[in-house]
Amino acid sequence: MNFNTVVQFHGHVCPGLSIGYRVALLAANYFRDRSKDEELVAIVENRSCAIDAIQAINGCTCGKGNMIFKDHGKHVYTYFKRGDKKAIRISLKPEILSQDEDHVALFVKMRSETASPEETKDFRALHEAKSQRVLEMQEEKLFWVREMEIKPPEKAIIYSTLICSKCGEGFMESLGRVRNGKIVCIPCFEAKDE
Ligand SMILES: [Zn+2]
Ligand SMILES: [Zn+2]
Repeated sequence: MNFNTVVQFHGHVCPGLSIGYRVALLAANYFRDRSKDEELVAIVENRSCAIDAIQAINGCTCGKGNMIFKDHGKHVYTYFKRGDKKAIRISLKPEILSQDEDHVALFVKMRSETASPEETKDFRALHEAKSQRVLEMQEEKLFWVREMEIKPPEKAIIYSTLICSKCGEGFMESLGRVRNGKIVCIPCFEAKDE
């Protein structure tokens, strides 16, 4: 799968997506010859644009449960095959993320929707140039890569469904709360009383 397909899936070109693309290709290459039928699992430690490239290329998705998400805000990606302890840990070198001041200032303006059309164009150009640099960079300049052994996480347990006594919607048993002696879902538990 080439980068354009990933861009279509994600919706735009950005440095985060390029990072994810390089991570995904590295992992795909590494596991190419190993136990083909076992499912590849990715543990991702951030919720950036990079994740979309991993979903598109490696087929590791939240829905299937073979993408495990940890909210650490780090560009660290650990892959393994189910049934195999051998894992590869890919960590982005921090200098890759450093941005020049102009880029950051424009980014702030874009976010607050105060950028002029000219500034918007400049931002896109800087953003795409950075994405391109990431795509072309040598692997050893981008990442620290190490092989390791991990204890594979337990397979997902299937929980039964409970009905919330307030909103009447079904929810996963393990996520129930008790409010005024009744079993409710999390949103109803956290909602202020009317
Ligand atoms: Zn993006
Ligand atoms: Zn409810």
